[in-house]
Amino acid sequence: MSTDPMGTITGLLTETRRYPPPEDFAAQANINDPAVYERARKDPEGFWAEAAELLDWDQRWEKVLDWNPPWVKWFVGGKLNVSYNCVDRHIKTWRRNKAALVWEGEPGDERILTYQDLYREVNRAALMLKNLGVQTGDRVAIYLPMIPELPIIMLACSRIGAPHSVVFGGFSPNALADRINDCEAKVLITADGGYRRGGIVPLKENADKALEQTPSVERVVVVERVGRDKHPVQMREGRDIWWHDAMAQVSGNYCPPESLDSEHPLFILYTSGTTGKPKGVLHTTGGYLLGVALTTKWVFDLKDEDVYFCTADIGWVTGHSYILYGPLAIGATSVMYEGAPDWPDKDRFWDIVERRGVNIFYTAPTAIRSFMRWGPEYPAKHDLSSLRLLGTVGEPINPEAWVWYREHIGGGRCPVVDTWWQTETGMILITPLPGLTTLTPGSATRGFPGIEPDIVDEQGNSVPRGQGGYLVIKRPWPAMFRTLWGDPDRYVNSYFSKFGPTVYVSGDGAKQDEDGDFWIMGRLDDVLNVSGHRLGTMELESALVSHPAVAEAAVIGVSHEIKGQAIAAFVTPRAGVEPTDELARELRQHVAETIGPIARPDRIYFTAELPKTRSAKIMRRLLRDIAEGRVLGDTTTLTDPSVLEEIKQRYAASE
Ligand code: ATP
Ligand code: MG
Repeated sequence: MSTDPMGTITGLLTETRRYPPPEDFAAQANINDPAVYERARKDPEGFWAEAAELLDWDQRWEKVLDWNPPWVKWFVGGKLNVSYNCVDRHIKTWRRNKAALVWEGEPGDERILTYQDLYREVNRAALMLKNLGVQTGDRVAIYLPMIPELPIIMLACSRIGAPHSVVFGGFSPNALADRINDCEAKVLITADGGYRRGGIVPLKENADKALEQTPSVERVVVVERVGRDKHPVQMREGRDIWWHDAMAQVSGNYCPPESLDSEHPLFILYTSGTTGKPKGVLHTTGGYLLGVALTTKWVFDLKDEDVYFCTADIGWVTGHSYILYGPLAIGATSVMYEGAPDWPDKDRFWDIVERRGVNIFYTAPTAIRSFMRWGPEYPAKHDLSSLRLLGTVGEPINPEAWVWYREHIGGGRCPVVDTWWQTETGMILITPLPGLTTLTPGSATRGFPGIEPDIVDEQGNSVPRGQGGYLVIKRPWPAMFRTLWGDPDRYVNSYFSKFGPTVYVSGDGAKQDEDGDFWIMGRLDDVLNVSGHRLGTMELESALVSHPAVAEAAVIGVSHEIKGQAIAAFVTPRAGVEPTDELARELRQHVAETIGPIARPDRIYFTAELPKTRSAKIMRRLLRDIAEGRVLGDTTTLTDPSVLEEIKQRYAASE
């Protein structure tokens, strides 16, 4: 028997649909010369050094890469400032009066900040931080809803070189306290509340609870988002101050940007916690900004005249890299929406796309599967003809969902870029380039120029095409994380020890098809082992989702005396579908026919919702805990813990 992590998954994905780049798209694309891959492969450092011209440097670097495995430094000796690159330099050009951020609140209020507006706000916010005693190197924790003050304060932090740590506004007091304590933040920026599905998220109350356990925090700044009349909050004398009061105390409108070392810490961000305790991922200045700027320009083909809308929350790395830093570094217009996709109705995104003339739209597979479940009538109500490119990130996208997205959102004309990356990688690493790449639904295709992904077996040897294995990256890239905050040993042990210090181990399983395209098969922690056959979650779930009755599915392995593991599938039907025993039988048969008899699920459980992280990823480890009767592991990053209760009861009832 093979010892490869996914060794016996061979040739199971039989997707044959192919979508070459439309000619007119390719002709106008920011990158359409296929030679770019070869050039970057031959001389990666030269490639990145050339790309670094995208940024404004105060001082040029002496060395592109200093690699002392596993430790890396990029653009050694270079100096620059992130807020200068994202704001100041644009106001010296015609972009001064261009919209930088187009913000829409859930209740329908809006704020549009031009680069000039943003410049003013960021400067004053930076002065405010200084007034509060924040110095270069101090950490600032941020616990805000998706409101303009969030990008403003992040840029202000980068201006003075105070690393920020954004904690997603949906987190509980305990989750917030853990993250504040881990990075020992000196100041917390929060709000009186935020809107979500018409209700108010009590951010200040949560923060107050967290602050009982966070000795490092000296000052708390509170943005008045909801208003004292609607939602009064407690302000502690001497510690808490309203944002508008603190800003009013600022004198002057200009805070000189600190000229920072290329390796100066820019931010700490905790991973989603899908697989366990979140890790404090540290990103630095020069390499990170370059990586996100270049990928934004090439992967999203983002142009000056485009309106770009990424639906992520800035509390996740996708929001950091592809709502804020990447788009603003290249002077783009970025749309930012505060609330839920189904508020006031299930067409909110499409309403935004139509009204604002969005050209490029970036979202997650879970969101797409929700759109499928809700039905195509919601996008059909709107004119989506402004769209020219679609993107997805966060989980493997099932081919059926990919095709649905292309048809019903992209009108059959927009390329879909499936982008694989992680909090740790900082930037997109495996992705199509829409003017160059022939797309296959479900595949993230190939490494971005200069990136060297590979798939290896247990011994670290590259596996033949078609065979599964560990997805690794074999050379450093500029936007990679530099360490885990306060835990360099975990950095080395978790990511750079299995195959030696030069090989980054992503934790995901993957395989390459005959064309050399990469398929992400899911997390290695989630791989099933059925009678010695290793099965990735992605294929099993995609087989289920390819049945017209199914909107979403999560598959896990449950200990089984004979087989090692039995396959349990949790299935969410599409709108209007009745979950019956007959349907369960049909689905089991459907999977067996699609993949093979070995993959036939032993049990199907219907459920209205699946447990997801707050960053919208399916949490299979909690389903395994339920199925194997264990105490539930860390649930702090779960969207809605009541979903688990319901699944637990159903599971118990059917045993
Ligand atoms: P933790 O590491 O704490 O368990 P997490 O891995 O969910 O959390 P993120 O860094 O937000 O935190 O997510 C990165 C992961 O998301 C990847 O390792 C991969 O499993 C998944 N992912 C992201 N994009 C894609 C994609 N395009 N295709 C397949 N999987 C993807
Ligand atoms: Mg991870």
